[in-house]
Amino acid sequence: MLTVSKEDYLKAIAEAEAEGETVIAATLAHWLAVSRPAVTAALKRLKKDGMVTVKNDGLIRLTSQGRQIAEQTIFRHHLIERMLSEIFGMPWYEIHEEAERLEHAVSPAFEKKLVEKLGDNDICPHGNNLALRSPADRREKGQCLLGEAEGGSQYQVVSVYERDRKLLDFFEEEGIRPGTHLAVQGRNYDGTLSIAVGKRVTRLGAPAAEKVWVAKA
Ligand SMILES: [Zn+2]
Ligand SMILES: [Zn+2]
Repeated sequence: MLTVSKEDYLKAIAEAEAEGETVIAATLAHWLAVSRPAVTAALKRLKKDGMVTVKNDGLIRLTSQGRQIAEQTIFRHHLIERMLSEIFGMPWYEIHEEAERLEHAVSPAFEKKLVEKLGDNDICPHGNNLALRSPADRREKGQCLLGEAEGGSQYQVVSVYERDRKLLDFFEEEGIRPGTHLAVQGRNYDGTLSIAVGKRVTRLGAPAAEKVWVAKA
């Protein structure tokens, strides 16, 4: 049986890769909010168990066994988020932390029940999906970051970065969520982007605009 923290490490590696980050020990310390010595100790165990490889330059890669566990944990995370949202009506911006705790408690039997009830469509309420393993995968499907969108064009939100609760609260206030249609009006001198969501015009700075994937609508 894997401990919670091992699953968390493996999932964080897969998710950081999906965000296009270079995964080194410092990336994991930041993503998991743990100390560098804790990361070093965990990587040693994960290497011994054949879950990851660490190159001389510090680059961390999942082995196929490590990736399988990471993706199973992500699949369960998405199922729990969908359960909280679709069955219990919890707001989309509140469910991620809850799912972080509950995903480790899902047995294969309960997972089967959830799939029966919700279907095996793996798109979570933040629009994230196991099939999108890297920014390159997303770009191949015609997606771009909102921060790169063209002025004068219409877009639909595909997904948002879900590990930052304050960011999700901000998006909720601005009416930005997966499925939202928005018109990009143009880029301002201060680097912000003017976007219209319905009749409301908002100026988004790069820290928010770089956390949203969109597709032309
Ligand atoms: Zn989540
Ligand atoms: Zn999610």
